[in-house]
Amino acid sequence: MSNETPDQGVTFKSLLFNENGKFCLPCTLYKSFQYISGTTGKSVTSPAPIQEETISKQSTALSTLPSSDLIPGSRTYVKEDPPDVNKLGSASWTFLHAVAAKYPEKPTPFQQEEMSDFLNIFSHVYPCFWCAKDFEKYIKENAPNVKSQEELSIWMCQAHNKVNKKLGKAQFNCDFWKARWKDGWDEQ
Ligand SMILES: Cc1cc2nc3c(=O)[nH]c(=O)nc-3n(C[C@H](O)[C@H](O)[C@H](O)COP(=O)(O)OP(=O)(O)OC[C@H]3O[C@@H](n4cnc5c(N)ncnc54)[C@H](O)[C@@H]3O)c2cc1C
Repeated sequence: MSNETPDQGVTFKSLLFNENGKFCLPCTLYKSFQYISGTTGKSVTSPAPIQEETISKQSTALSTLPSSDLIPGSRTYVKEDPPDVNKLGSASWTFLHAVAAKYPEKPTPFQQEEMSDFLNIFSHVYPCFWCAKDFEKYIKENAPNVKSQEELSIWMCQAHNKVNKKLGKAQFNCDFWKARWKDGWDEQ
């Protein structure tokens, strides 16, 4: 059993991951326990080691779903349907804007080439045929601006706005790309 320390500042609703990016069950249950027991916000830097039995009891307490809603054999995974075009789109834009927001401010020629390649390949494999076709066309006519983080993020915003326009949705003000996808709104 792992004695990993929970991350600070993550809400009880989140799944917690350790520094290697792996799901941390003890951390998640510990945080949930804190919420349930009203101890959220108290020190979480040195939690007592969590015993198997405790985790099992907490899992049972947390599981309020009928078992028919869960994947057979699992106490964790709900039977979710495959994503439709909207769910896929929203998740994909989140990924693409986040990638752009983490792109280096001064990328090397190699990083620029990699990013161009990635976006080209993305437009070929995106699992919505007509979305992919249009995105591929957009990329051909508007080569991704991979010179810097700022330029790539604005390019991404404009590419997204092109789709928004096609779908009759409002245009997003690209002046706010950084607040939306990198820094948050605290400083606005
Ligand atoms: C490459 C690609 C092509 C697509 N093509 C199609 C298509 O042809 N037909 C179709 O029906 N759907 C398409 N989609 C899906 C579509 O764009 C939406 O994702 C989907 O309609 C769900 O919309 P949503 O309201 O959840 O918000 P989304 O458009 O998914 O946006 C998610 C969030 O991003 C932020 N945001 C919105 N616009 C911008 C912007 N310009 N810049 C930065 N942030 C922004 C907002 O905070 C918004 O809440 C495509 C998705 C992708 C990734």
